[in-house]
This record gives sequence, structure tokens and C-alpha cells, in this order.
Amino acid sequence: TGPDPDVAKIASCLQDVKNKVVILSGKGGVGKSTVSSLLARSLAKNEELEIGLLDIDITGPSQPLFMGVKNEEVHKSASGWTPVYADENLAVMSAGFLLAHDAALVWGGARKNGLLKNFLKEVEWGALDYLLIDSPPGTSDEHMSTTSLLKDAGITGAVIVTTPSKVALIDVQRQLAFCQKVDLKILGLIENMAGFVCPKCTKESEIFRKSDGGVEEFCEKNDVAYLGALPIDPKICQAMDTGENPMDIDSPAITKLNIICDQIQS
Ligand code: ADP
Repeated sequence: TGPDPDVAKIASCLQDVKNKVVILSGKGGVGKSTVSSLLARSLAKNEELEIGLLDIDITGPSQPLFMGVKNEEVHKSASGWTPVYADENLAVMSAGFLLAHDAALVWGGARKNGLLKNFLKEVEWGALDYLLIDSPPGTSDEHMSTTSLLKDAGITGAVIVTTPSKVALIDVQRQLAFCQKVDLKILGLIENMAGFVCPKCTKESEIFRKSDGGVEEFCEKNDVAYLGALPIDPKICQAMDTGENPMDIDSPAITKLNIICDQIQS
């Protein structure tokens, strides 16, 4: 088989996007979409930057809810889908918007893949400083082929989100091996749900048993950057459920997230 013609179209659709970062996870439920949303919000605090968030997690697109735009409609013109704006400099496009357009698109592998490719090549982003891509979780062949497609279309790098537990890290290992195989640069790992901040006493306790040395040691062994840890904070979950901007919330998770965001930019 020759080169995928869609790859060139995707690359051309993203040509005015300076940094394209895909957010990956080995498992679902580890907070990949939450972290994607928080990173987008954190980047968008800088009004001089133009940010895009693309949600291709067709298994359960969360960004319309998380970004407070779930009732918005997306429109298609001759030049492509116009994203919705969660803020002046923060454009959001989600599989959720398209599924609302055509519920029948939900199932059937071929159509799903078609949907993904259309997304990547038909969204009118304009010029962006950062595009974050919230991708489907997992390490199945289908997920891996999406990652490989993104890599071929010029993705800058990947951030992997995990919880501290052993089962999560086993899948991360598989994800890492794949990224190395397709030569996709790993910007680093973010450890989510790394502890719990008690809302009464504001002290932090560990919820998940740290797997053999934890994520930090795992990163050292695998020679990837450890970007930092975010604790579980019910205020984060609440903000995600209501779509409010969590950047003003007084939470150690937000403080740490902002530090991680600075690291990704440097
Ligand atoms: P994934 O995208 O990996 O499937 P989500 O981002 O949807 O996971 O997160 C799963 C649930 O956990 C959501 O309800 C989300 O709000 C919540 N959550 C994720 N990270 C945190 C955190 N650090 N503190 C509190 N709740 C969190």
C-alpha cells in the first residue's frame, strides 16, 4: 500500500498550527480528557496565544461538557467545520458535536475511522500556537493506527496520562513501545489521581497504591520525562461536570497543572 492520501490533507489542514500535541493514555478513566481540558485552559490563560482543543475520543467525547460548550452547534462550510469557542482564544472541536449531527455515525469501524480522518482534515483551525488532541484511550490496533496517522501528519509530540497503579502502568509501557516504534516524540508522563486532598483538612493522602517505585521511577527506567503529579480534588471533578473554567479554583491540582503546562511549553 502507498502513502495514505489523507495524511497529506491532514498535514495541510494543520499547517498553521505551530505545536500539535496528542494526549494519550493506556486506559480509560485515568483523567486523560480532564488533563487535556486543563492544559488547554492553562495555555489559554496567556491571551497572546491561540489554542485549539480537538477531541477525537469517539468512545466517549467529554470535551463539550468539560469545556462548557455542550449545547453549542458546529457548522460546516465549504472550507470545513468551524470549531466552537470556549473562550476568545480557545477553540474546541469534538466528536461529540458531530455525533449530535448524525447519531448514525456512532457505529461501524469504517465510518468511525472516516469520521476521525474528516475531523483531522476538515476543521478550520486557522493559525494556532497549540493544538491539543484528546485521543481515544487504549493500546488496540485501531488506537495505534490513529496515533501513527497523527505522527505521519506532523504531530509535535505526545503527553501520556496515567494513574499510579500497576495496571495502568502496564498499558503505558505498551503505549511507550508503540510511540518509540513509530518515532513519535514523548514529551512526558503526567501522573493523575496521585493522591487525595481532603476538603476538610486540605492534607493529601495516597489513594492508589504506588506501583513498584511509582510513576517517577517508571519514567526513569524508561527514559521518559516525568512531568509531575496531580492529586484527586473533588473541585476538579465538579468543574469538569459543570463546564466551568477551573483555572480560578484554589486547588493544589491546578497549581501543579500550571507548572506542568509551563514545562511543556519550554
Ligand atoms: P479519561 O479521559 O481518561 O477517560 P476523564 O478525564 O473522563 O478520564 O476522567 C474520569 C473522571 O475522573 C471524570 O469525572 C473526571 O472529572 C474525574 N477526574 C479526573 N482527574 C481528576 C482529578 N485529578 N481530581 C478529581 N477528579 C478527576
